Amino acid sequence: MTNATPRATRRRLFCTGLGLASTVVLFARCGAPPRGPAPSDEPRPAATAPASAGPDWIVVAGERFPIGTRVVTWQEPDGYSAYLRGKHFDRNEPADGKQRYDVRGGLPARLAAHADRLSLAELSEVVHQFVVHFDVCGCSRQCFKVLQDVRGLSVHFMLDLDGTIYQTLDLRDKAWHATIANDFSVGVEIAHPGAYPQPMNAAMAVWYERDELGWKQKFPQWMTETGLPRDFVARPARPGIVTGEVQGKTWHMVDYTPQQYAALARLMAGLNRALPRIRLDAPREPDGDVIDHVLPAPELRAFDGIVGHFHVQKNKQDPGPAFQWDPVLRAARELRRDP
Ligand SMILES: [Zn+2]
Repeated sequence: MTNATPRATRRRLFCTGLGLASTVVLFARCGAPPRGPAPSDEPRPAATAPASAGPDWIVVAGERFPIGTRVVTWQEPDGYSAYLRGKHFDRNEPADGKQRYDVRGGLPARLAAHADRLSLAELSEVVHQFVVHFDVCGCSRQCFKVLQDVRGLSVHFMLDLDGTIYQTLDLRDKAWHATIANDFSVGVEIAHPGAYPQPMNAAMAVWYERDELGWKQKFPQWMTETGLPRDFVARPARPGIVTGEVQGKTWHMVDYTPQQYAALARLMAGLNRALPRIRLDAPREPDGDVIDHVLPAPELRAFDGIVGHFHVQKNKQDPGPAFQWDPVLRAARELRRDP
């Protein structure tokens, strides 16, 4: 997300604003498709496709790229469309006419004249980064409400707790998710409550409860609709609280779900196939560790691959210290070799 306020304040703002917004929701939309059995022939946990039923393609410059996991595009009746010039959840309110996206900028002159109709080959010349965010909304339904209905922003993909991917825009179009990287990037908001300066402080405890298996995610009382299957329990890929540094400060968070990692690896592999400049690697220190802080703008601009929002902006921590860069990148590379 692109908010610049401190995290605790930001979360409170979201809760207040969205608590009010949720009282006027007239259309309770459930974006989650029915689930089939999970494939069992896959020995690599991080690369296992989540159960899926329905279309599995992403849309890139009008072309479909199957990625082997469920993708709900904006073209489906239960999808989320950033092309909508108004609120998604309150359809009784007149459309505000405002665009939540744009054509890509910073293009060479030969492409700028038809920026709204770039071919796949042309798009693959200019898009070279995939920016990973956490949404601090807890589920994709809430994320879209914040982006579309409250803040007038956008992101190409949302990745829900159960591994369902939502695509809201063709990748040809520029989403508003990562300031200086928007022109040359694709973005994903992963459903997650976020990272916190103290472990299980009051703000974080709103989102989690413990049982004999460890932490599992819950939702604040005001969030009456999540869009997730009723029986789905969101458990982190690792059971404890993960602590680590981002931008030189310590943050605590619960890991993402295994379903999210599995779907994300497939999305990364699909993006690399469609737009090969998005290399399946992240910015690294000389010793090989993934860099855990913002990159100088020219360095960011020159990087081809996958970045966190914190690589783009100094005031960001997402996707946070729990994000398992190397396993998910490795899984994506394996999928490219053996889809
Ligand atoms: Zn972000």
